[in-house]
Amino acid sequence: MEFIDLKTQYKKLENQIQENINKVLIDGNYILGEEVKELEKELAEYVGVKYCATCSNGTDALTIALMAIEVGKNDAVFVPTFTFYSTAEVVSLRGATPIFIDSYEDYFNMDAEKLENTIQKVIKEGKLNPKAIIAVDLFGQPANYDKIKQIAKKYNLFLIEDGAQGFGGSIRNKKACSFGDIATTSFFPAKPLGCYGDGGAVFTDNEELYKLILSIRVHGKGSFKYDNVRLGLNSRLDTIQAAVLLPKLKAFKEYELDNRNKFANLYKEKLQDYVKVPKVPEGYISSWAQYTILLNNQEERNYVQTKMKEKGIPTMVYYPKPLHKQTVYKDYNYNVEDLKISENLSERVLSLPMHPYLSEEIVNTICNNLIETIKEYRNEQ
Ligand SMILES: *Cc1c(COP(=O)(O)O)cnc(C)c1O
Repeated sequence: MEFIDLKTQYKKLENQIQENINKVLIDGNYILGEEVKELEKELAEYVGVKYCATCSNGTDALTIALMAIEVGKNDAVFVPTFTFYSTAEVVSLRGATPIFIDSYEDYFNMDAEKLENTIQKVIKEGKLNPKAIIAVDLFGQPANYDKIKQIAKKYNLFLIEDGAQGFGGSIRNKKACSFGDIATTSFFPAKPLGCYGDGGAVFTDNEELYKLILSIRVHGKGSFKYDNVRLGLNSRLDTIQAAVLLPKLKAFKEYELDNRNKFANLYKEKLQDYVKVPKVPEGYISSWAQYTILLNNQEERNYVQTKMKEKGIPTMVYYPKPLHKQTVYKDYNYNVEDLKISENLSERVLSLPMHPYLSEEIVNTICNNLIETIKEYRNEQ
């Protein structure tokens, strides 16, 4: 059994993907070719924003966003601590300071109330200049933008949406990757929409920011490539990756997102009496980058993961450490009370196989084995 089954997807889309790749090979426009432009247009349309610029990966997409809004030394950027490392790494790489925020236990996303309290604390301390918030759509579910947008406005902060896992999700029909001043996503193969290598994209409705993003993506170019007006990156998307993504986006829109939601509902139905299953707020749709359950404690989680592995069912722990506990941030000063939900989540989370090519039968097998294992563990206690 696969944790994320990319091979079945390939088999289904094989003809179209091969045809598209061959066309790129023959045409010879290997970087930022026609397919890239077509993909950017389709992505912007799907997400419902004016502008989309693809780039090399989701981490670069965040870096480009931070460079466009000129995040630098002495700036504070508020990020969830319960996320993938990239979200904070890019802030530190700009020479700015990530300020870690706790998450909601029910949704895994950044806690808006704690965010506001922490912003006020940083303002009061007066050492750093509060500059931006990076909200993450963790495991596919959009963050609490109803509140986070208001907070960004109130404190005059830029809002960046890290939609690396969130592509396809929505809040009352407004799509993920449209919530920030700038939003970003990743096309790493295992993300909800993935290519066959690295890829990413940046989204915005702001024309001025879009122009900066295009410049930063290609060495800070001015009127042409050898006119360099600012520092930038080499962060373009290969045309072959766009050729792969076009048919994948079509499948994503036509049935993959629906399938992910169908299997998530099945998981919920089967498992909710035994473990804490993820909650989705009214009006929100998740793209289920991961289906993550909560066991009672770390010992139970580890037992279940080991036993499931023995039964041939792959599971993952996203994430075993919140970022404030990572070695790289060992000197980070924080109050344990402020980040305790995230610490607790990292001890209890377990992600189950999730992709659009599951079947009811496979989900049933996973759930039956899981329930049996949990009962076994709880009986021994
Ligand atoms: C995967 C991921 C990224 C980075 O994307 P890459 O394409 O791997 O660079 C950033 N943020 C989050 C939340 C992610 O899950």
